[in-house]
Amino acid sequence: MDLDFTDVETDFQTEVRAFLDGLFPAKSPYRETAADKARWRAALLERSWAAFRWPVRFGGPDWTPAQKFIWERETTARNLPPQLGGMGMGMLAPILFAYGTEDQQARFLPDIIADRTIWCQGYSEPEAGSDLASLRTRAERRGDVYVVDGGKIWTSGAHHADWMFCLTRTQTEVKPQVGITFLLIDMRSPGVNVIPIISLDGQHRFNRVTFDAVEVPVANRIGEEGQGWTYAKGLLTHERTGQAFVSMSLRMLGQIRQAASEIPYGDSTLMRDPGFAGRLALAEIELKALEMTEMRTLWEVAAGDAPGAQSSLLKLKGTEIVQRVTEFFVEIAGDYAIPWLPEIIHPGTEVKAVGPDWAQVETLRYFEARSASIAGGTDEVQRNIISKHVLKL
Ligand SMILES: Cc1cc2nc3c(=O)[nH]c(=O)nc-3n(C[C@H](O)[C@H](O)[C@H](O)COP(=O)(O)OP(=O)(O)OC[C@H]3O[C@@H](n4cnc5c(N)ncnc54)[C@H](O)[C@@H]3O)c2cc1C
Repeated sequence: MDLDFTDVETDFQTEVRAFLDGLFPAKSPYRETAADKARWRAALLERSWAAFRWPVRFGGPDWTPAQKFIWERETTARNLPPQLGGMGMGMLAPILFAYGTEDQQARFLPDIIADRTIWCQGYSEPEAGSDLASLRTRAERRGDVYVVDGGKIWTSGAHHADWMFCLTRTQTEVKPQVGITFLLIDMRSPGVNVIPIISLDGQHRFNRVTFDAVEVPVANRIGEEGQGWTYAKGLLTHERTGQAFVSMSLRMLGQIRQAASEIPYGDSTLMRDPGFAGRLALAEIELKALEMTEMRTLWEVAAGDAPGAQSSLLKLKGTEIVQRVTEFFVEIAGDYAIPWLPEIIHPGTEVKAVGPDWAQVETLRYFEARSASIAGGTDEVQRNIISKHVLKL
């Protein structure tokens, strides 16, 4: 693997930078407002860059690993989402490429790439999280439909979703991994019920979803009946490869350096404190090593391999680093990291939080980053996979 960019790749980087600078110049950078999101969406769709990991036959740009790498770094450095389409784009699409019929590809992929449909992931159940294979949501074949009964939990974004990719049980008298079938369920089907779960921070991200005799056409089954476990595992490796958070950690470390060089400390600034600078450097070194592992995985995937068990390594290490990076922010924010909630006493107040603008935002990100140890498979589960399939203990 050659880690230097070729001339063509450097030209590509220049093209990407010019495109991004044209859209969001340094003086008015991208912010997560409705107007900026709409501009970004329109620009990506116009260039066919909305699905930067997709092959050209499905409407993607067919970029090389180096181009994907450059794109992700350049967009994330500017706080821009590198692709549209959430779970449909990043998680379901690779499964449709590999296992979907031509009809399914033609039916679902155009809406995913145009960001017209929202997908959610129906894997976890109250008694089946880490031990996913013990899932019990039942799908019984009756003619041209499966009748689905049961329920899912922690379904992110189900309240906005048009569709769910869902694991169901079609057989019980076999070993748990065998009788699982992968279905695509229209969330507007009669019998689908979405119940909100409000998290500690007051936000509505999660849901419980129940199925009461929901009819799902057999045409919405991916691959063979009973083989869903194989497809689901493939999907999880794509999910975990995308959870190394390298670009995000890189951007945040840059911001921490900048902020720490403006914070007075003794006769100088915090960035000049050897203890702080040393700890920051250590995090940067570990991130560099993770970046190399991520690049190696991307190159292997480009050579035709599925991202295998090393996706667990990426996820585990990436989680550890992104959580450490968010801790630096809270540390340097000091007292300003304390939640600013004057509206509790003075409803409607417009008094701004004291301290730097980033302090409150990064504190929220610090709390949110804890969930990375659970989402997409817990740290302990990743360690089990690494010990079995990477270290072969
Ligand atoms: C932010 C977020 C978003 C999510 N979004 C979705 C979604 O959209 N769709 C979806 O289907 N699910 C989603 N989930 C659910 C997630 O996949 C599960 O929470 C996760 O798989 C763990 O399952 P559990 O919560 O049932 O915990 P459990 O499996 O009950 O685990 C409890 C504890 O036991 C440990 N443990 C369990 N088994 C082992 C073992 N064999 N060895 C060692 N330790 C073990 C775990 O590490 C954990 O600490 C989301 C979760 C989060 C946090």
